[in-house]
Amino acid sequence: MPDLQSPRGMEDLLPEDAAVWRHVRDIAEHVARLFDYGYISTPVVEDARVFLRTVGEESDIAQKEMYVFEDRGGDRMALRPEGTAAISRAYIEHGMGSRPQPVRLFYIGPFFRYDRPQAGRYRQLWQFGAECIGDASAAADAEIIELQHTLYQELGLPDLLLRINSIGTAETRARYTEALREHFRPHLESLSKDSQRRFETNILRILDSKEDAGHPAVTGAPSILDFLTEEDAAHFAAVQGYLGALGISYVVDPRVVRGLDYYARTVWEFEPPDAAGQSTVGAGGRYDGLMELLGGPATPAVGFATGIERIVLNLRRRELAPEEEAPVDVAMVPLGEAGPAAAMRLARALRAAGLAVRAGTPGRSLRAQLRAASNSNAAFAVILGDDEARDGVAQVKPLGADGEQLTVPFGSVADAIQRSW
Ligand code: ATP
Ligand code: MG
Repeated sequence: MPDLQSPRGMEDLLPEDAAVWRHVRDIAEHVARLFDYGYISTPVVEDARVFLRTVGEESDIAQKEMYVFEDRGGDRMALRPEGTAAISRAYIEHGMGSRPQPVRLFYIGPFFRYDRPQAGRYRQLWQFGAECIGDASAAADAEIIELQHTLYQELGLPDLLLRINSIGTAETRARYTEALREHFRPHLESLSKDSQRRFETNILRILDSKEDAGHPAVTGAPSILDFLTEEDAAHFAAVQGYLGALGISYVVDPRVVRGLDYYARTVWEFEPPDAAGQSTVGAGGRYDGLMELLGGPATPAVGFATGIERIVLNLRRRELAPEEEAPVDVAMVPLGEAGPAAAMRLARALRAAGLAVRAGTPGRSLRAQLRAASNSNAAFAVILGDDEARDGVAQVKPLGADGEQLTVPFGSVADAIQRSW
């Protein structure tokens, strides 16, 4: 092993992984377009306060996962652990509140969390996400859920289980918190250290504990759904009505509370049917209070994020991942003295005509170059030696399928290849 390696939990993406990643990105961008979401990209590094003020002191992110550092000017910076707070920061900074509402945005990029690396869990992870900002309606929740659902459909993962819940507004949660306190107090001794701390700081998060997931006090905890205000309940019923109208199946699970504190009302997760809790593929929720935490005007919003590595993992498990990039159209085969320069000029013209062309390897034999061309799955070899260079022609040789080799003038090579497709 060389002594320098990629950081633990951060992986190199190699050309052999490119096909499946391109596939996922293409579909994600296509689906965002279908719903009229505009692309936004924020810096990988932010003022740490963007996240510290929003994700919640008791969240895994703030407690143990965020990469925080002082830059050379002494400012406290963070590698972004998630997208929503950063996009909200940008929404406020650029006065997007004065644009027609809602503002529909999507993003795709790397995020950083000091997580414990294992299958599907990295320290640099990629997320695709969408945010619908400036719309308080249940229809906006349904739109975002449908966008996410459409993404998984298009990817060939139609059976991910959608679990939804409503965690109400702050008022709801205050009353619910009281009830939870009563409920958990007698069981405190038997709960994990993490849960004991959460009992004091953010008791709702005990329901999200991975350690205590099966604890009878957790499974038997009162349901937040019994504490919703009339408005919360009506909103949640409306979301379910829309999902029903769209034919999107879901289960209501009062224990979905989400890892970040800024959520309100509708929250959800998509997970594989065989999941053991660790492998949520994507999750979202409404975050009506977030903008104010960042010093902006009260702005209702809803969004989701989905992990690209977890999508790739699920595609590979089901053998749905394309493992090879589309083959190249042409492999150039330059020979002799004048062949190489002529082949370079012809390759340039072919690329200008939209063909993918792999450069040749001057100095290697015809046989060796043709073998390399077939091995790389090129559709055609274009052979150019001294005679061809002199006469202004090339030999166009179909590889693989039958079809005869043709002598074609430079100016007609692109045409000849495109016609035979
Ligand atoms: P988990 O409970 O698995 O830690 P989370 O609640 O921290 O997930 P979110 O903050 O909701 O996750 O992030 C949205 C999505 O990003 C997740 O559903 C998952 O697909 C992906 N994700 C989160 N953390 C990681 C990670 N460390 N490595 C890879 N993907 C991740
Ligand atoms: Mg996490």
